[in-house]
Amino acid sequence: MALRKILLPLLLVLTSASFSQSKKTENVILITLDGMRWQDVFTGADLSLINNKEFVEDSAGVKSRFWVSDVNERRKLLMPFLWNEVGSKGQLYGNRTKNNFVNVTNKMWFSYPGYNEILTGAADDVRINSNDKNPNPNVTVLEVVNQQPSFKNRVAAFTSWDVFPEIINTKRSGVLVNSGIDEFKDSPLNDKQVLLNNLIHELPYLGYTRPDAITFHLGFEYLKKKMPSVLYLSFDETDHFAHEGMYDLYLQSVHYTDALIAELWSWIQSEPKYKDKTTMILTTDHGRGTTKYDSWRHHGAKEPNADQIWVAVIGPDTPATGERKSGEQFYQNQIAATLASLMNIKFETQNSGKPISPVSSK
Ligand SMILES: [Zn+2]
Repeated sequence: MALRKILLPLLLVLTSASFSQSKKTENVILITLDGMRWQDVFTGADLSLINNKEFVEDSAGVKSRFWVSDVNERRKLLMPFLWNEVGSKGQLYGNRTKNNFVNVTNKMWFSYPGYNEILTGAADDVRINSNDKNPNPNVTVLEVVNQQPSFKNRVAAFTSWDVFPEIINTKRSGVLVNSGIDEFKDSPLNDKQVLLNNLIHELPYLGYTRPDAITFHLGFEYLKKKMPSVLYLSFDETDHFAHEGMYDLYLQSVHYTDALIAELWSWIQSEPKYKDKTTMILTTDHGRGTTKYDSWRHHGAKEPNADQIWVAVIGPDTPATGERKSGEQFYQNQIAATLASLMNIKFETQNSGKPISPVSSK
């Protein structure tokens, strides 16, 4: 409690000044796909993994769905929304085959440290070095936005993994977080929300996470009913299926999640509160290994290159430059400041990354 008394005035100082330049963005949707590889984002499905019976049951079936020889067509086949919409109207960072680099700065290369870095804008290898459910001592950008009088209770997170109440520190931050096994509570609930709450208990529970479709639709219903200014959707199946060595289910999850995001973006562009006033940021908490034939299943500090990630952004302040190809280096610790700057909120601490400037150079 004593620490909290010291921290709060400091935060007020850090966040009271707004940027003078105005942005068109009034809302931000942040989406993460846990442990999704940049290799699949930029080069599509991997033929050596599709052809390996250890990782794919029906190789011919998966190949017919997700494989063509042209790399640009192949990545579109896997993620049509990302490449047709964000690729033409937004920006994509992290294609290492084209000299564009995004890395995490934490030394852990697993989930809690990654989400801490995404949301608080800084690695904290001393205190955030496990996935245990410890309340985050660091302050997330979601908490800072929620502290602004105009955004009070207008920030929400729906997450498949059940550690997010601690990562976002709901007790301290007051940010609404619905995750894991927890039913969404509201009165009244509509029919769809009742069904989704039931499905949490009627579909396979994947270790510490629920199926991503539940997370998506609970979040989407909340968006339509409550119209928050910042919505965070955190998906987990990609990491789960990769660890299990199920590349077929990993690809399927990427593909239908891309379609769900398309549905969300289409609704946003039809709704006056959000249309042309909303930026969407997509990214991941960590990469995956690359050294051996099965390294793609794993991550963590012992897996070389599992610090390599990607970022995609679309919105009214983001020039439509598409895939970034120049020799740029960006970091996971820039995402929080990028989100805040789009909302005209200053978010910088001693160690935090600066906003990714090309995202809002319109
Ligand atoms: Zn993992």
